[in-house]
Amino acid sequence: MDCPNCKIPLNDDYHCTACNYNVNDAEWVIIKKVYSPQELIIQSVLEAYGIPVKVLSREVAQLPVSIGPLAEVKIAVPASEADTALQLLEELPDDL
Ligand SMILES: [Zn+2]
Repeated sequence: MDCPNCKIPLNDDYHCTACNYNVNDAEWVIIKKVYSPQELIIQSVLEAYGIPVKVLSREVAQLPVSIGPLAEVKIAVPASEADTALQLLEELPDDL
């Protein structure tokens, strides 16, 4: 993804060498809830398009979620990338 301030590509750590923007400090939004291991596919698709992804599983979740093989995980991306990410996911088949 590009730096929202400078419009130049971020480096491999999603960090802008020009203005010091760090995507980890950005606002992140949850774009999708899936059941493990679907998040692995979504993560690889989005990262292939240069979109940083955070997978929020029960290990880091604020609220407890169901335990077991169908544990729900949440897919989060920077708010500036949410529209692009959702468009990409719409093109995926429903039965990942
Ligand atoms: Zn920048």
